[in-house]
Amino acid sequence: MVNVHEKQFLFDCGEGTQISLRKERVRMMRIDHIAISHLHGDHYFGLFGLLSTFNLLGRTRALNLYGPPLLQELISAQEAAGEMVRGYPLHFHATSTDAPAVLFEDATVRLESFPVRHRIPTTGFILREKPKEPGVKRAWVADWNLQPTEILSLKRGEDVLREDGTLIPFAEACHAPPPPRSYAFAADTRYWAKVADWVRGVDLLYHEATFLHAMKDRAEKTFHTTALQAGRMAKEANVGRLVIGHISARYEGPGLLLEEARSVFPDTVAAEDGLVLEVKSRC
Ligand SMILES: [Zn+2]
Repeated sequence: MVNVHEKQFLFDCGEGTQISLRKERVRMMRIDHIAISHLHGDHYFGLFGLLSTFNLLGRTRALNLYGPPLLQELISAQEAAGEMVRGYPLHFHATSTDAPAVLFEDATVRLESFPVRHRIPTTGFILREKPKEPGVKRAWVADWNLQPTEILSLKRGEDVLREDGTLIPFAEACHAPPPPRSYAFAADTRYWAKVADWVRGVDLLYHEATFLHAMKDRAEKTFHTTALQAGRMAKEANVGRLVIGHISARYEGPGLLLEEARSVFPDTVAAEDGLVLEVKSRC
């Protein structure tokens, strides 16, 4: 779950997602965007239950769903079988593994997808904050009695020249806006150097790390990544911070995998239930 200025985006929806959302007191009905990376059960078996719960709770707000084209058919079949009448619009946006694409955009945020390499068609996702306008310093508004049109010009980055020849320079009258932040979710994938191009420079990268590097061959065969490779990816893509997850149940905890990833990329944490991270700008 990513909360961007109270807009909530859910990335994948495995079994148990609803229980976790309730436990963490997430306002479920405020989730307006759900992006599904691929159709392996551990990434979407919770979706049918969540869509149904939205109905039971009387949802009327539209929901945007992004995922492989087949997902729409699965939902239709499941709803038809149960003769379910959905009380809210569901806008389905098919993802493509051909090339990166913009899936959604508004004034404050943009959602993109990018292809990864997994056994079945799979995409990762990137959420980017849009750049904010610079803020005009309060003291300047008061001291110069700035008018609304002048404030708008300054926010656009323009200097203001008054009829009496007074110059109000943008660079001095405005605060620089905070740099926009970004988060990438690199789904299930084998290590694929190309992914670094898609996720380059993001502030926070989630990358799967299913195995330790001693099991590199198995990772390749099953289209998964090792912790060492996840660290390399973070370093190669010059991201701000790395979160590893999708760790094989054969390991007792994330300890050894964290150690391995950190040997290449020190600012690495392991995903766990209930973990909350603030996306901090790396600038
Ligand atoms: Zn998978």
